[in-house]
Formats: sequence, structure tokens, C-alpha cells
Amino acid sequence: MSIESKNPFNNETLKTFEEDSEQQIKEKISRSQKAYEFWKEENFTHKKELMLKTAVLLRDRKEKYAQLMTSEMGKAKKEAISEIEKCALACEYYANNAEDFLADQALEVPNGQAYVAHDPIGIVLAVMPWNFPFWQVFRFAAPNLMAGNVGLLKHASNVPQCALAIQEVFEDAGFPKGCFQTLMISSSKVNMVLDDDRVKAATLTGSELAGSKVAERAGKNLKKTVLELGGSDPFIVLKDADIENAAKTGAKARMINNGQSCIAAKRFILEESIADKFLKIFQEELEKLKIGNPEDEDIDYGPMAREDLAKELEEQVQKSVEKGAKILIGGKRDKAFFEPTILTNVKAGMPAYEEELFGPVAVILIAKDENDAVKLANDSRFGLGGSLWTKDIEKAKKLVRKIDSGAVYINKLMASHPAVPFGGVKMSGYGRELSEAGIKEFINQKTIWID
Ligand code: NDP
Repeated sequence: MSIESKNPFNNETLKTFEEDSEQQIKEKISRSQKAYEFWKEENFTHKKELMLKTAVLLRDRKEKYAQLMTSEMGKAKKEAISEIEKCALACEYYANNAEDFLADQALEVPNGQAYVAHDPIGIVLAVMPWNFPFWQVFRFAAPNLMAGNVGLLKHASNVPQCALAIQEVFEDAGFPKGCFQTLMISSSKVNMVLDDDRVKAATLTGSELAGSKVAERAGKNLKKTVLELGGSDPFIVLKDADIENAAKTGAKARMINNGQSCIAAKRFILEESIADKFLKIFQEELEKLKIGNPEDEDIDYGPMAREDLAKELEEQVQKSVEKGAKILIGGKRDKAFFEPTILTNVKAGMPAYEEELFGPVAVILIAKDENDAVKLANDSRFGLGGSLWTKDIEKAKKLVRKIDSGAVYINKLMASHPAVPFGGVKMSGYGRELSEAGIKEFINQKTIWID
């Protein structure tokens, strides 16, 4: 089988790659294992030097790498450039902090001296998605390489050129061959990698189905997983919020990456008395967006990453409309393009209420009061992020504790940052990435007690 790199803007095939054979997969795993044998002993000073060099190369090559993302999955060029810059930040963050995060931790014990040492575990497999083809990989790779682990990447089949470019940048920065490798495989070969004793753990970002399959196989092999799956994040606006700021930020939060982000605001939960005012500004913001070829620097919004994903979204919208939802704006698809859309009158039982809408469709829900808003927010299978808008910070601090999710931002666009933990609860997955929590996921926290 071959793996195809295709431009979703014009359907042009950019490049085709042969899948790695079973023999090639085994060879790559052997190379990773060999690299691990010395990489685990590497000192922090050298690891830091290489990681900082990676950040420099990413910045130097940001045009080239951004262009790859734009052409393979349709991300607007300016967003692609920011993504590369954010990857450089993650490299610097872990280059500068890993040693402190992984320093021995003294323990209070009744006698003698005890501490926790942080040892690497070996090869970690990363099964990654296409929506942030560089960022999702770097947030796994930077902490793990600094921790002394080595990485094997199975990237989404529609971004093979990005996958190879990531291996290239690590190698060019001086990471020894084998520390980070790309497997050119489709999902059907992932089990073979998970079954290999030398592969110690796996992390996956993607759909629930992919997550459960990988976790099932890893579980059978008693290997740890971190899963970062979908979300249907609530964006709650209370009546005492700065409505204009909330509506303008809400539009950005929904439309980021052509609407294809796990932490995009998906369900807008508005207190009744301010709903019309919010919607008016929100609609104006969506209507202002410039749609077109993602390679044009001044467009805001391009095609979705694949036509099948746009068709799936169209079906979710149509089924919701058949059950009584109303389209305020948008709703139409042209190949991989999907119009920015606002759905009102959304009720339980509709796909727009129950499922993740992984594209530019905003669901509007009306809440009677703040308690009702929290109830609606929690009436979801997902629990990744969310945001809450109110001028009363004390009230907000109490309300956010009642929301079942991995994060809630107050009066702020939900976005990941190297310094803060990222991950979900419920069907959004488990485990954390980024920050100190992220670097400790694939670590042997070894207890040492001296009499
Ligand atoms: P998938 O979840 O299918 O793909 C994500 C990654 O998992 C890819 O590398 C994919 O490989 C791999 N994968 C898929 N199935 C398996 C499996 N059975 N075993 C091992 N690996 C597997 O995402 P899609 O591209 O199909 O998108 C579908 C939906 O997933 C979206 O509409 C969205 O709801 C959600 N999604 C969520 C993301 C997030 O950030 N949380 C990111 C992307 C998608 P391959 O490409 O070769 O199939």
C-alpha cells in the first residue's frame, strides 16, 4: 500500500510514499533500541544543546515547514508559521526545564534517606493526527528526548512529508540517528509495533476509535498509554461578561485551524438575556473571515484537511437540521471547503449536541442561568477544555471547579502552552502532556531508600 500526500485545496497529489515493510519496521525499531542504549545515559547539557539547536533550525526553516503543512492539510499559512514558532518554544521550554523537572526528589521517611529518581523507559510510540502536524509531535518529542527516551512516530497518513521533515530537523540539529524516527505506515501496522517488546509505551492524539484501539492493544501488552482524544468544549458566556470581547474571542476559538482543533470552542452556552447581543457580534465576526487558498498569506480560512472529513461534518449538520436544528449562517460544503456555520435550536439527541463537530460549525445553546450553563457544559461525553466568561472572578473560580474537563480558562481563549498541563477526562482521554506533568508520563519514577 502507498501513502499519499495530497493538497486538499485542489486535490493534487503532491507525493506518494511506499509503506515500510515489516522488515523495515523491525529495522527501525532495532535502530531506536540501539540509540536508546546510549541516549539514556546522555547528560542534560548535551541534550539541552541539541534541543536548543532544534529550536533555531525550526525558526530558520519556518517558511518551508509551514508550507508543507499548508499544502498537505490546508492550514492557513499564517497559522502554520505560528505553529512552527510554538514548536520552537516547546523545544526551548524543555531544554531549559527538563533537568529541574527530573531532578531527584527527596522523600520524608521514618529512617535513613529516600528519594525518587527519574529514569527513562525506552522507545515510545507516538500515533499522531494531521490537524497540528508539527505541534502535536513536538509536544511529545521535546519532553521525551530530554528525558532520555527515544521516539517512533506513526503520523497520520495524509501528512507524510511533515512526518519526514520532523525527523530531518532533529537529525540536522545533531540528535543521533535512531533517537527520533518516522515510520511510514498505515494504521493497520500499528499493532505490530505495539506488540514489540522493545517498544515500552504509546501516546495517541486523534479520534476515540483510534484511541481505544491503540489503548486496547497496548493494554494487552501491559504498556502504558496517554490518550488525547476529541473534545466538545463549552464556551460559556454569563450575563455579566464583556460580551463584545467574548464574542470576538469566541469566533477565533471556533475557527482556529479551519475549525479542526480538539480544544476549539464547539458549544457556545449563552445566558438567555445576552444571547442575542453575543450572537450578533459573533455572526459578524464569522462573516468577516476571508476564505480562500491557504497559501495566500492574507486569508483566514482554507479547506478542511480532507474532503471525507468535510462530508462527515455536512452529514452531522444535515441530520441535526432534520431533527429541528436551525442554520443561522453557512451550512454548505464545496469539496473540502465548509462554510463557517452557526446552528441554533440544538437539542439533546441531535449529532450537533451529542458528537464532536470537527470543523467550522458553532453550536448555540441557551442557558437559564449560571447553574444551567454548568449543567449543559457537563452534558457531554467529552471533557477536554472549556472557557467561562464573566467579570466576577470569584464566582468564576467556584463555577470552573464544577465543570468536568481537563482545563477551563476564564475570560481567555483556550490554547495549549508548554508551561501548562494539557489533557482530558471522560471520552477526551487520560494522561497529561506538556509542563512537568507531561515529561513525567513516560518515566520510571524509581524509589531509592538508603539505610
Ligand atoms: P484518526 O483518529 O483516525 O487518526 C489519528 C491517528 O490515529 C492517525 O495517525 C491514524 O492513522 C491513527 N489511527 C487511526 N485508526 C487507528 C487504529 N485503529 N490503530 C492505530 N492507529 C490508528 O483521525 P481521522 O483522521 O480519521 O479524523 C477523524 C476524527 O477524529 C475527526 O473528525 C476528529 O473528530 C477526530 N480527531 C481528533 C483530533 C484531536 O486533536 N483530538 C485530531 C484528529 C482527528 P491513519 O491516518 O493512517 O489512519
